[in-house]
Amino acid sequence: MRFCLHLGKKGVLLFLAGLLSFAEAHAVKTPPNPDQALNMLMDGNEHFVKGEITHLSYITEAKDQMLEKQTPFAAILGCSDSRVPPELIFDRGLGELFVVRDAGNVVGPIEMDSVEFAVASLKVPLVIVLGHQNCGAVKAALSGKDNFPELDNILPIIDTALKGCDTVGGDKLVNAIHCNVKKSVETLKNSPTIAPILAQKKVKIVGGYYDISSGKVTLISN
Ligand SMILES: [Zn+2]
Repeated sequence: MRFCLHLGKKGVLLFLAGLLSFAEAHAVKTPPNPDQALNMLMDGNEHFVKGEITHLSYITEAKDQMLEKQTPFAAILGCSDSRVPPELIFDRGLGELFVVRDAGNVVGPIEMDSVEFAVASLKVPLVIVLGHQNCGAVKAALSGKDNFPELDNILPIIDTALKGCDTVGGDKLVNAIHCNVKKSVETLKNSPTIAPILAQKKVKIVGGYYDISSGKVTLISN
């Protein structure tokens, strides 16, 4: 119990809650449907916002159980931004999220393959494209690609997403981030691999916006 002594009383309670939550998640044989998966993520984000993280499974001994296979219940296409780590902001543990990240949460060939693998082979019932407040890649696209030669593969994809976006009223950067998320959602939905699975309603693809100030994720309707 030396480890628990270091955690303190609240830490021990959170640790136990994490163990229970982890055991619960791994005892369930039936995978969640798309709506249940979405609720699990949004509940996790609520824990995160309240500072009540329950998933401390990173420090359990369950890693051995994951050796043979993975059964994540959601795929996240998020931005590489260091302030937006999906497992933390959705309060999920090892083996629960299939995460693809790049600067600007865009869909190029590599990201497309990765999400297709999650949907077709791992059979995740949910994909979230997660944009975030103050995204540097989207800012770079708004400022002109000549200023950021290192993003020469990414900015043209964001530029395409931003076509027509400036007609939306309100904050220009927030609108651009939303438009960029919607474009990635649309691109994924049009994948020949994913489209038939979507048509069977075996997967749901949604957009989200992470507010760095509050820690809250809100869904974006396409
Ligand atoms: Zn970003």
